[in-house]
Amino acid sequence: SIYGDYIKSVIRTVPDWPQPGVNFRDITPLLQNSAAFRKLIDSFVHRYQEMRLDTIAAIDARGFIIGAPLAYELNCSFVPVRKKGKLPFKTLSETYKLEYGESAVELHADAFERGARILVVDDLVATGGTMLAAAKLIRRSGGEVVETATIIDLPELGGSQKIRDDGYDLFAVCS
Ligand code: IMP
Repeated sequence: SIYGDYIKSVIRTVPDWPQPGVNFRDITPLLQNSAAFRKLIDSFVHRYQEMRLDTIAAIDARGFIIGAPLAYELNCSFVPVRKKGKLPFKTLSETYKLEYGESAVELHADAFERGARILVVDDLVATGGTMLAAAKLIRRSGGEVVETATIIDLPELGGSQKIRDDGYDLFAVCS
């Protein structure tokens, strides 16, 4: 992507967090840097400004940070895809497997019109389970998933491949 190398340079890797052996990719240095944050949002705007999107569906919680300014700039509606139990109205839910146990993402039943052109955004794709569950949920709810998008893809974990194998396009600002 246009600013991929630069964006990558302002992401911090924290070793052994939240547990030994995990390299956590920390985007707070990127968000704290106003020029970098602007370039990040501009990377998505550049890709999506001609795609006639209706809705940005952003994944709880770091997906919200990019989803909201993107929806504003592209004149799209904003829809939160939340972790289980957070949404107050009638919800649809999609369960997915974690390394240990399972988790679920939820969407309000009236979040968008049937056939709405939707971009799904999150901060990071690891195993791809979260992004794939969100995309499936949106499709089940009658939305057209135009693309899925992330700041960071960790391709060695196979998630981006899994998302593409399931028939969704994935855009990553950096890998
Ligand atoms: P996946 O479902 O295995 O692809 O994990 C992606 C989800 O976990 C995203 O919602 C991320 O916010 C979060 N996540 C996993 N690893 C990291 C990381 O290293 N940094 C930040 N978020 C992460």
